[in-house]
Amino acid sequence: MTDYGLPADYVHVYSGKVRDLYRTPDGNLLFIASDRISAFDWVLPTTIPDKGRILTQLSLWWFDKLTDIVSNHVITTNVPEQVAGRAMICRELDMLPMECVARGYLAGSGLTEYQAKGTVCGVGLPPGLKDGSRLPKPIFTPATKAAVGDHDVNITFDEAMGMVGQEEAQVARRITMAVYERAAEIALERGLILADTKFEFGIGTRGAYEGKTILADEVLTPDSSRYWAQDTWAPGGAQASFDKQYVRDWLLNDSGWDRHSGEAPPSLPDEVVERTRAKYIEAYERLTGKTFV
Ligand code: ATP
Ligand code: MG
Repeated sequence: MTDYGLPADYVHVYSGKVRDLYRTPDGNLLFIASDRISAFDWVLPTTIPDKGRILTQLSLWWFDKLTDIVSNHVITTNVPEQVAGRAMICRELDMLPMECVARGYLAGSGLTEYQAKGTVCGVGLPPGLKDGSRLPKPIFTPATKAAVGDHDVNITFDEAMGMVGQEEAQVARRITMAVYERAAEIALERGLILADTKFEFGIGTRGAYEGKTILADEVLTPDSSRYWAQDTWAPGGAQASFDKQYVRDWLLNDSGWDRHSGEAPPSLPDEVVERTRAKYIEAYERLTGKTFV
């Protein structure tokens, strides 16, 4: 966790690999995106300058584009100056214990399961699809939320219903797919394919939000989504992407680190930090059409 030097009446409640959560004096959540970066379920020892601000600003931009589909957890971006730009004050929700993933293209754990079983999260797919293929139609592929240090595990829709109840699973699926379709369309107008993305939902506990399914966490950032350049998209191999694939590739191919050694990954050289930062900024600027300052 990062020390932001916040006022003493902000109480730390949780730190994940990338985000730090504090309770505000009036009982809401201060949701802070640090500059930490994770890969292969490790937090890397090097931070990426501005990453937290870039992802927070992108997330806010997207929330705004989705308000007619689903309410979100943001109350205000008026936050303590120590975390300005990288934080938002949010409603604290009862989080659903699953990650809601939508996939329009085959990649990552979806590809792995498809190659082994011809399915993704139990959803049958036609034969002959390749790494990067577009799916006949987007699919809902939930996963469990792993504890820090563990992998998320793909589950079937039946298992999702077992975890959150039939009705809630159906609501989460419907919202996930509606948001994916909206976002994929907007991204494509900017020349980016939204191959897949992950959402987290929570149930409101107070006032007008009580009992409602609310979109939480960060949304549609390069950390939660695979964005590919449309003009070079070619199924049959890895795609030019705007996520941290560049960092993963460096760790695997150039750093000398053995992923399976159990040892922590090494620091990133300045050049890798700078190129990674540039990728995040490029994703932000292409999607929003705004210059990152
Ligand atoms: P990982 O490091 O694997 O991502 P994580 O998801 O627990 O683990 P972060 O993403 O860094 O870690 O932290 C964000 C946490 O905040 C998540 O646990 C997420 O479920 C939770 N969260 C997001 N929005 C809300 C909300 N409105 N109310 C309560 N918890 C929330
Ligand atoms: Mg998370």
